[in-house]
Amino acid sequence: MINLISDTVTKPTPAMLAAMMSAEVGDDVFREDPTVNALEAKAAALFGKAAALFCPSGTMTNQIAIQGHTKALDEMICDEYSHVYQYEGGGYSFNARVAVNLIKGQHGKITASQIEAAIKPLYDWLPESRLVVLENTCNKGGGSYYELSEIAPIRALCKANGLRLHLDGARLFNALVETQETTLAYGAMFDSISICLSKGLGAPIGSLLIGDAEFIRQARRVRKVMGGGMRQAGFLAAAGIYALDHHVDRLKEDNDHAKRLGEKLARLSYVENVRPVKTNIVIFDVAASMTAASFLEKLAAHGIKAAPFGPQTVRFVTHLDFTPAMLEQVLEILPSLGN
Ligand SMILES: *Cc1c(COP(=O)(O)O)cnc(C)c1O
Repeated sequence: MINLISDTVTKPTPAMLAAMMSAEVGDDVFREDPTVNALEAKAAALFGKAAALFCPSGTMTNQIAIQGHTKALDEMICDEYSHVYQYEGGGYSFNARVAVNLIKGQHGKITASQIEAAIKPLYDWLPESRLVVLENTCNKGGGSYYELSEIAPIRALCKANGLRLHLDGARLFNALVETQETTLAYGAMFDSISICLSKGLGAPIGSLLIGDAEFIRQARRVRKVMGGGMRQAGFLAAAGIYALDHHVDRLKEDNDHAKRLGEKLARLSYVENVRPVKTNIVIFDVAASMTAASFLEKLAAHGIKAAPFGPQTVRFVTHLDFTPAMLEQVLEILPSLGN
């Protein structure tokens, strides 16, 4: 079976499992899990921030961040494709009781001038613009990424207007292996950063929220209220430490695999509109002669799984468990699926 549904489908490698099984653990709610503490310290240092918080999921780190940066009746500004808007169950309104101000960006990316135009003036009848959320890479944008030169004017705009800036960096490292930009430079740009350990980095569970000391102190309280206080979580944190040490640089391989898939798809007569392949995500439409569902059925008959992303739209995501041999197999099968 070849699974291109998501980069979350990876299973821990034997070496990662060994690291997990030998982890030193304690009760993290009492801050007595040395491995969780080590992971949090490692993540904070990586981004040049004071602190970090290990959470079960990226939805939780984003939701805690939104709550930390806003109060009820504020507004969050983000691209219409954003995970925080599309895929977190409307949690911004449920958890933080804030409104959302959606920007139509390009492949999930928004600019400082778009944000500037979206900031609301202060009237009793308007929500108060308080937070900007950027996503890098952008999932629904087809794995598009920002460069720091695009983020710097957004940082300056937020500062000038008293807005907080959060990064949903679930797949940030897929971008960094392309741009060669540094985590420290990212840390300096954002008030808070969320990264996922369970996507391309290959850990079974976990995300990190990174920020300054007071922000993370409050975030710990919100995590507990949301039911995210875990006990001997060091077994999981050990996988995260292993992933940060061993699985970052290899993301380039996943990105390259996705590019190969994108190039092949672009040459097939039954494929239309392959979104620019920038990292490890390939989004494309199938021609009107088929549907995403019928295409996926044909693909499944060859033992290949992928995800529908709309009535005509399909998403492939490459990852640690998608090997070069699997890539060759998919490249060979794709041309035969048009009939
Ligand atoms: C996967 C993902 C998240 C977090 O998802 P969880 O499944 O809750 O860990 C957040 N943002 C983006 C862009 C993602 O792709």
